[in-house]
Amino acid sequence: TSVHSGSLPDESSTLALGAAFAAAAAPGLTVHLLGDLGAGKTTFTRGLLRALGHAGKVKSPTYTLVESYALSEYSVHHFDLYRFADPEEWNDAGFNEYFGQHSLCLVEWPEKADSLLPPADIVLELAVAGEGRTYQFQAQTQTGQSCLLRLST
Ligand code: ADP
Ligand code: MG
Repeated sequence: TSVHSGSLPDESSTLALGAAFAAAAAPGLTVHLLGDLGAGKTTFTRGLLRALGHAGKVKSPTYTLVESYALSEYSVHHFDLYRFADPEEWNDAGFNEYFGQHSLCLVEWPEKADSLLPPADIVLELAVAGEGRTYQFQAQTQTGQSCLLRLST
């Protein structure tokens, strides 16, 4: 499996990592974002969305569970499942339909939805380290591996 890791000394480096990832990403990809509150998961997503042309705000979908962005090339769905508690809600909200070949999905707190959630192509783990953060990408599928190869070249 391919791994890609490093350190992020400040917020702008997390935004830059999101932008670099946007250049390597493609529709059909599912990315799980791991890390404590404040680790930089939403900041990474913000950098990615801006690089894909989103000019407006990127708010944390803490209460809505998902925020969707119809961008020029494809749609991005940003989940934050921190408050997700009721498995029935998964089907009621039609969340399965968000995952597919035509969109890029980023999921904060994937562990909250457990087995309901489609498997990740890539897991990104962020962690607080002093004033900054560290990151590690891990590919879990062939699609994820191709993306990480594009990221590291
Ligand atoms: P999460 O979504 O993981 O809870 P956020 O992305 O909301 O975390 O970030 C929490 C805070 O951490 C924000 O104030 C953001 O500016 C800051 N932050 C993000 N990346 C870094 C970094 N590499 N170094 C220092 N602070 C950062
Ligand atoms: Mg967040």
